[in-house]
Amino acid sequence: MTDYGDAEERCAWCGRRFAQSPGPGRKRRYCRPSHRQRAYEARALAKTHALAEGQVLMAAERLDAIRDLLYRIEAAMDDVDADLASDDSPDGTRQALWHLYRACAEVRTISLEPLAVGTRR
Ligand SMILES: [Zn+2]
Repeated sequence: MTDYGDAEERCAWCGRRFAQSPGPGRKRRYCRPSHRQRAYEARALAKTHALAEGQVLMAAERLDAIRDLLYRIEAAMDDVDADLASDDSPDGTRQALWHLYRACAEVRTISLEPLAVGTRR
C-alpha cells in the first residue's frame, strides 16, 4: 500500500492519489502536468457545449463501467447484510469483509476522467 501521509491529494482530473510536494508554494491540484492540460481542455470543451461551471462531458462507455462497478459493490453489501444477519461470528464477519473487499478491489484500477478536446474515450 502506498502511504501518501498527511500530504495526500487527489488529482482534480483523474482522481488518483498523489503526494503533495512539501514546502511553501501553491498546492498542486493535478498529479501530472498533462492532467492539468487535459482539465483545461475539458473546461474549454464544456464551454463550447454550453455546460454550466463544474460540468464535464464523459464517455458513456466509461460511465457505464462505473455504474456496473457501483452495482456490484451494492450487491456485495446486500450479501454482507444477509450473511451477517445469519452469522456474525468472527469467522463469518471475516468472510463477509473479504467478499466486500473483492467486490471493491476494482475501484483501485478505475479512473473518472472527463473528456478533453480530441479525446476518443
Ligand atoms: Zn491525474
